[in-house]
Amino acid sequence: MDARLEAIRDTVLARNPGEAEFHQAVTEVFESLGPVHDRHPEFLEGAVLERLCEPERQIIFRVPWTDDAGRVQINRGFRVEFNSALGPYKGGLRFHPSVYLGIVKFLGFEQIFKNALTGMPIGGGKGGSDFDPRGRSDAEIMRFCQSFMTELYRHIGEYTDVPAGDIGVGGREIGYLFGQYKRITNRYESGVLTGKGISWGGSLVRPEATGFGTVIFTEEMLKTRGASFDGRRVVVSGSGNVAINAIAKAQSLGATVVACSDSSGYVVDEAGIDVGLLRQIKEVERGRLKDYAVRGTHVAYVEGGSVWDVDAAVALPCATQNELGGDAAARLVRNGLLAVGEGANMPSTREAVAVFQDAGVLFGPGKAANAGGVATSALEMQQNASRDSWSFEHTEQRLTEIMVGIHDRCAATADEYGAPGNYVAGANIAGFVKVADAMLAQGLI
Ligand code: NDP
Repeated sequence: MDARLEAIRDTVLARNPGEAEFHQAVTEVFESLGPVHDRHPEFLEGAVLERLCEPERQIIFRVPWTDDAGRVQINRGFRVEFNSALGPYKGGLRFHPSVYLGIVKFLGFEQIFKNALTGMPIGGGKGGSDFDPRGRSDAEIMRFCQSFMTELYRHIGEYTDVPAGDIGVGGREIGYLFGQYKRITNRYESGVLTGKGISWGGSLVRPEATGFGTVIFTEEMLKTRGASFDGRRVVVSGSGNVAINAIAKAQSLGATVVACSDSSGYVVDEAGIDVGLLRQIKEVERGRLKDYAVRGTHVAYVEGGSVWDVDAAVALPCATQNELGGDAAARLVRNGLLAVGEGANMPSTREAVAVFQDAGVLFGPGKAANAGGVATSALEMQQNASRDSWSFEHTEQRLTEIMVGIHDRCAATADEYGAPGNYVAGANIAGFVKVADAMLAQGLI
């Protein structure tokens, strides 16, 4: 890392103790930015990096609710409004027991650059709670969401901060959150949340967008080597929103997705994952992946273990941060891995990324490869602002153009800064320069 940036990075780490994921995300971005500061001394003079690493606002709040047995439960809610240089804060809400400030800050920090890369007018933010939705009834989920929004509503708005979904927050939760926002404010403010239902202000393609976009980005990377998804063996981690739609899109391009996972285990289906059955189990019945093995034919289920033990030409990590480590990366590379497209945020550890890059594997980092979700959220905001709703085909076409654009921008920026083929450098630099220019133009705020 450039010595000037290393000193700033060390200060950021010291100011934010105990936030390992945030430290990791900051370090990974700083490692790319030395050459930018050689060309743009004004960024150092304006302390852009120091400002970028300090969120504009951080909100932490109590979320009290009662479970079905009438017991009082207390969770912690977060919203980190990181950077509004390019537009209102935009980023999802995560409900998962592992959530703490360091996770929300890593996700919010990544979101700044991701949103800049989309070319849409959106700043970066993220939020969530340590609430665990697993095993909770619909009524409990609703009461939790209502309590969460009873505090959050005063901080968000169409022109201020626009949350969406993430792990543990899908269409059902966005519905309960939107209902409570409307009730408290007495405003039908469609643009305050994205990921809404189609009949009440949502956008077609939003549920599919992150997974579809990840595959579109990865296909663009493959094309640079004269390759494609067609006929390839693919492994996907996770079996949530991003994973299911990545599987569907990869298979529509001719790939065979042979394995996917949840936090309990993974399935191997050599004939290719049956997306219809997977959707039925995970989206309709809210069941576990183990059920897929019971109901599918010729499916092996491995309790525990790592889905990365399954060989593939293309790996699409779509579950969570740091799920793919250096040893797994080395094994995948030894067995013929060609490309990695990150559907999740920071799923590959720093060691894994180094293994992929040293081996010449095409590597699409999450902030570029999974930007289709937030980009389509921005399309949802456009439709809300114009009180319009677009067809599936039109919206998917826009998503495709955006993903191809992000790919090309990352590739061109990597070339421009002497790192051809390095999508990590390309994404970090292109996103950073756009935000840094806007911050300097807007003065010291
Ligand atoms: P979902 O809640 O729909 O699915 C998450 C999946 O990942 C589940 O299969 C879950 O398994 C698994 N998972 C979650 N946490 C862990 C863990 N600690 N260990 C192992 N497996 C885990 O979330 P999404 O699909 O929406 O999100 C997946 C990833 O994609 C996240 O990194 C998210 O930040 C990122 N992302 C999502 C976007 C979106 O539009 N939804 C946009 C951009 C990025 P289990 O059910 O067993 O917990």
